[in-house]
This record gives sequence, C-alpha cells and structure tokens, in this order.
Amino acid sequence: MLHNSDARFRIEGASAAQQQAVDALAQQFLVSDERLAAIVKEFRRRMEVGLAADCTMLKMVLSHVVWRPTGRETGSYFAIDLGGTNLRVLRVTLDGAGGATTEHQKFVLTEDAKRRTLFDFVAQCVETFLDDRSLRPAASAPPLSIGFTFSYPIDQTSINSGTLLYWTKGLDVPGCVGRDVVRLLEDALLRVGLRARVAGVASDTVSTLLAAAYADPAAQMGVIFGTGTNAAYYEDVAAIAKWKGPDPPSREMAVSIEWGAFDSDELAILPYTPHDIKLDRKSLNPRRQVYEKMISGMYLGEVARNVVLWLADQRLLLDGRSSDVLNAMWSVDTSYLSAAALDDSPDLSEIREIIEKTLNVPMSTLVDRRIFKAIAILVGERAARLSTVGLVATLTKRPALLDRPLTVAMDGSMYEHYPGFDRIMTETVSRFIPARQFANIRFSLAKDGSGIGAAVLAMLATQHSAAAAQ
Ligand code: ADP
Ligand code: MG
Repeated sequence: MLHNSDARFRIEGASAAQQQAVDALAQQFLVSDERLAAIVKEFRRRMEVGLAADCTMLKMVLSHVVWRPTGRETGSYFAIDLGGTNLRVLRVTLDGAGGATTEHQKFVLTEDAKRRTLFDFVAQCVETFLDDRSLRPAASAPPLSIGFTFSYPIDQTSINSGTLLYWTKGLDVPGCVGRDVVRLLEDALLRVGLRARVAGVASDTVSTLLAAAYADPAAQMGVIFGTGTNAAYYEDVAAIAKWKGPDPPSREMAVSIEWGAFDSDELAILPYTPHDIKLDRKSLNPRRQVYEKMISGMYLGEVARNVVLWLADQRLLLDGRSSDVLNAMWSVDTSYLSAAALDDSPDLSEIREIIEKTLNVPMSTLVDRRIFKAIAILVGERAARLSTVGLVATLTKRPALLDRPLTVAMDGSMYEHYPGFDRIMTETVSRFIPARQFANIRFSLAKDGSGIGAAVLAMLATQHSAAAAQ
C-alpha cells in the first residue's frame, strides 16, 4: 500500500480511530499509476471524439489561431484578461526580442459582477485603467484595439467572435449563454463611452500559449491551474475532422481542450470520494466540470472543508467542534491548503492560526493540526497527480513533437503556489513518457501569460487581417 510507507500520513500522537480515519482518507485520495493510466486512455478517446464533432464532453474549441508569433513583432496593445477570480486590464509593449513590458491593473471580480453585471463591471475597470493613465482616446480617434482573454467555453466562430456555451467557475450571469461574448464586451464598453474593437478573443490557455510562443519557438502547450483548469495546444489541422474552413498555411491551429469538463455528466472514471460528490451536489453546476473540481483553486479548499467536517462529526478532529465560519460553504480558501502543506514549524503555528483565527474554531490540539496538514497534502497532491492525466494525453497525442525540445507554459495560482505541485506533476508525467522524450519537455511558469498573450493575440490578429486585406 502506497500510504503505509508514507510517513506524512502517520500522525504522531493520534488515537487508533484517528489514524484509521486518516488511513482511509489516504486510501481514497492517493491515486495509483495504474488508475492514472486507465484515465489517460479514456481522456485521449474523448479528445478524438471532440475533434470529430461538436457538442461532446471535451469541447476541443477551435481557436482560429493558426499563427505563431516570431518574437520579433513590436508594438503596444491593450488587453483584458477575465479569469474566474480576477480581472486584469493591461497595456503590453512587445519589445521585438521575445520580451514584453506591461502596465496593468488588477481588479477582483465582485459578487455582483459574477452574478449580474459582469460586462458592465469589465467596462468600468477598462475605463478606470485608461482614465488613471490619461489613455482614453479622443472621440475622433479610431476605436481602441483590444485582445480579450475570456476563460469560459465558447463556440468560437472567428478569431474575434464566439458564443458562450455555459458558465463555469462560479459565474452565473444571466443573458449571456448563446450570445457572442465579444459583442457583449464591445456593447458594454460603448455604454461607458469607449469605442473599442476586440481584435481577438481566446481562452487563458491559448493566450498563455501565445505569450510563451512569443519568447520561445518550442512552446506547444498552455496550461492553467488557477480558479479553474484547462489547456490548449497546437493541433495538426488534418487531425481536426470538425474543421470546415480552409487549411491554413501553417497547417496547425491552437485548440482549447476545455478539459475541466472531463467525465462530466457521466462521473464514470475519476476517483471520486464522498467529499467530492458532496461538493459537486451543492455546487452551481452539479455533474459539470468534475475534473476541474478535483484540481483547481476554486474547489480544493471546499473538498478539504468537507473532509475536516467529516472527521469532526465523528469527533475525530477538533473534539467535534466547528464554527459558523467553518460551517459555511467555500470558507476554506485553497491558499490555506498551500500554507498548511508548507507549515513545518514544531507546533504547526500557521495551521493553528488558520483553524483558530481564520476559521474561528476555539481550540485545536497538535494532533488536530497534524491531521489538518495531512488533509491539505492529500487534497493538493491528488490534484497534481490528476492534472497529469490531461498533460500526458495531450503530450502523447503528437508524439513526433516529443523528439525535439518542447515547452509547456503554465499559469495560475494553484500551479504557482501550492508547494510541490510542479514537482509532483513533472515526476508523475515522467512515468508515462519514455525518458528520452521526457528529457525534451520543459515545464515553465508563464507568469501573467494570459494577459500578455491577449496582447500577442491582438497583434497577430491585426497583422493577419491587414495582410488578408491587401
Ligand atoms: P484566475 O483564475 O482569475 O486567473 P488565479 O490564477 O490567481 O486567478 O487563481 C485564483 C485561484 O487560486 C482562487 O481559486 C484561489 O483560491 C486560488 N489560490 C490563490 N492563492 C493560492 C495559493 N497560495 N495556493 C493555492 N491556491 C491559491
Ligand atoms: Mg488567470
């Protein structure tokens, strides 16, 4: 058994019943390599289905991005990066040597924006950004050209249009599903008196890929582990049966897998625990985005909260006590898991702070805190291991590319901050790819890639539409 040899899950000072419960959790949360291999196989099959037809579990959204930047392009571009938690407005200056400087401002999405006023909120933030820097164009000037990172699944109809398929990551704004998100943005900008033209729209995965590609010709994949999770990669157009347009000269197109939806509706193959099922049942989108719910920042704290309460209810943790805070859904932020997994102090003082101050539970013993840490590790490491399913399935889809250097660009707070996420993920990927090929893969953090990439997208779309018009 994996966990019996893992000292991190032997809780010093625990009662037999407590240790037994932790063993049971380890049993549920540690996913074997064999299990991962079976899931990879199914993931690959779903990718093929998604490339062949619309309306499948993996949407395999065709981005219409059929270019790669050379890194020599220059110019300043405006960009909007709409994530699940944050909105970033940027002005990016590409330096012509693979680098970029940015001026940017970050706004946290308000609850009202997430439920009601999203596009008006975005427009107000753009207005603030421009006015604070005296960048608002004169009424007689041509419309602003903007690259738009929109990280929700769309049916992409051109480089700058696409209709929203459904909301994810806790957004639920009425009147948007089935409508062109570019029009919704441009209309909202007009309402604050800004004439703007969105040159290109793409998911954060495609943007991250483009940002990486501007600096590195080997960039082949963009992956997000933030509020949600997803990835994009360059696919050979000959392998995209559902593509009905002309074959681009490059013969490839960036495809956004929309992998958070893997196993949705069916719930057939991922290693669900009752704690995952409980989260899913009470979420805004039951039975949807179920892979995402086991991997990304929006959800992992909630999985851990369910586990904590499951133990507390059996009086195996916190002497059976909870608090109003701990009783409330979503009160455990995933950043607490990172902090807990990192806490190596003798009395686990960071975890004490989280339990007693942040979560307002009156008292915790050292054993309670050790168990809390074990939970943080189990939930976080399972996420890192499950994330390799999509990575391995995608990397082995075009095996010839693995014969030369290949960069996978990563962005998102979970990837950046959960301790060991990168190490566990890479180590797990190495078990599924021959060593000679694995040695060619470089995983790199593309910090703010989804913002810079939107500017690269605006640049590419503008350049190619100008070329097409000539
Ligand atoms: P977005 O998805 O809007 O682009 P991020 O990539 O910053 O934004 O991801 C935000 C998510 O990451 C939130 O769900 C948050 O709970 C989670 N998060 C923030 N800080 C950490 C951390 N230190 N460790 C793990 N997850 C974190
Ligand atoms: Mg992001």
